[in-house]
Amino acid sequence: MVTRHDAEALDAADPLAPFRDQFDLPEGMIYLDGNSLGPPPRTAHKRMDETMRREWGEGLITSWTGADWIGAPQRIGDKIAPLIGAKAGEVIVADSTSINVFKALGAACSLNRGRRKILTERGNFPTDGYMIEGFAGISNGAVAHSSVDPDDLLDALDEDTGVLLLTQVHYKTGRIWDMTETTARAHGAGALVIWDLSHSAGAIEVDLNGAGADFALGCGYKFLNGGPGAPAYLFAATRHQKKAQAVLSGWFGHRRPFDFTHAYEAAETVAKFQCGTPPIISLAALECGVDLMSRVDMKALRQKSMALGELFATLMDERCSAFGFRLVSPRDAKLRGAQISYAHDHGYEIMQALRAADIIGDFRAPDIMRFGMTPLYLRFSDIFDAVERIRDVMASGAWRRPEYAERRRVT
Ligand SMILES: *Cc1c(COP(=O)(O)O)cnc(C)c1O
Repeated sequence: MVTRHDAEALDAADPLAPFRDQFDLPEGMIYLDGNSLGPPPRTAHKRMDETMRREWGEGLITSWTGADWIGAPQRIGDKIAPLIGAKAGEVIVADSTSINVFKALGAACSLNRGRRKILTERGNFPTDGYMIEGFAGISNGAVAHSSVDPDDLLDALDEDTGVLLLTQVHYKTGRIWDMTETTARAHGAGALVIWDLSHSAGAIEVDLNGAGADFALGCGYKFLNGGPGAPAYLFAATRHQKKAQAVLSGWFGHRRPFDFTHAYEAAETVAKFQCGTPPIISLAALECGVDLMSRVDMKALRQKSMALGELFATLMDERCSAFGFRLVSPRDAKLRGAQISYAHDHGYEIMQALRAADIIGDFRAPDIMRFGMTPLYLRFSDIFDAVERIRDVMASGAWRRPEYAERRRVT
């Protein structure tokens, strides 16, 4: 049996332990939901204040150039680039992940005309499929949405597949697609590949260029700790930037927006994937999260995240096996991202009871309980304490209280 003492020994030897002080976390809470919304980096408070008072309040319009607001999408994109195996000039921060899915579909389809199928995995994060539906809906029959079970996916790549859109780390199970192999298979079939990195960037090592990826996008508010609704990012491989079409052709993607020309002339760089005016206050918060992540050795981060997940799974086996939890993540840590998930028929109620006990994870219908394994602020002893509290909630039947069954709008 693993003891709390064992967990404390792991904490004492943890090279990432000092990062915990860089975050603002409520006293006593064990936060296992950094895969859904990262906590605020301490630097963000000062930066918000500075952006509000000095840049906005005093600088007003002059801050577009004086505080380089205009350069923020590219500057922060260049900082995200090394976290995902991209080069400077290949990543732009803009809009939401959903909107970037649409933009990437437009870009990829414009490079691969004549092929009808946009292929994705059944059970992918819903917005990705929804955006394919919307994109296909206005394509006048030129493209169509096709989703297949993950086991059948590689075989479904055929001469009619124009684009493969996949989320590298599955939002429910944490299962990881092999980016290199999958990209190669898609390219072999003549398709372009878009990777959704929402659960990858800041969670696992990612090498877009090593895999030869075409386009990618992902969230700023999960593992990058950019704040609720933080702007997202989009990657376009250098070789595609000139030719790929920016279908949301707003003025910020124009080559010279401040020439105010009548005709649209797209920028020839990744900047073409901006659409409208960037959200400066949100970008400032995101930059704090990205700067913090940039200081982290991703290899060490991944090692610790795997070790946290391994400890969680071991403790669940040892202490909670009688309570009906079914592991739905791969048992092998190398095959899952920075989360571990269990199915339970009463997962919603149990998660509410855990939150009342200051253990914060989340629930994804119909029956999945997710626990984020984020190494920058979680200690091994937190994992130990969390599983102890899961055992308490189950053994005492505390989760059966009627108020825990009331469904909230966000789960
Ligand atoms: C979280 C997540 C999104 C979120 O999209 P938003 O537009 O930011 O709401 C998209 N795709 C995946 C795979 C996600 O996990």
